[in-house]
Amino acid sequence: MTEIWKSVVGYEGAYEVSDLANLTYGTVSENRLDAVRHGTHNHTRRTHCYHGHLLDGVKSSGTRFCKSCRARYQREYRERQRQRV
Ligand SMILES: [Zn+2]
Repeated sequence: MTEIWKSVVGYEGAYEVSDLANLTYGTVSENRLDAVRHGTHNHTRRTHCYHGHLLDGVKSSGTRFCKSCRARYQREYRERQRQRV
């Protein structure tokens, strides 16, 4: 997918940017990867799911998830499928 958005990326990963020389142009994707690298990306910082379980699973894509919630979602899905006639 082609990124058409351009945004200003903080080179040091800091929110307070006092020196404009630290700014460089990059795509939104590059900016997100930068945030992950600097540990300032919201979801990278997360350690628990919305229900308070530890994010103890990792998908092949690298995305972390909570095994407890996934098990529940699968159980509820199977339940819904059973009720369909
Ligand atoms: Zn959970």
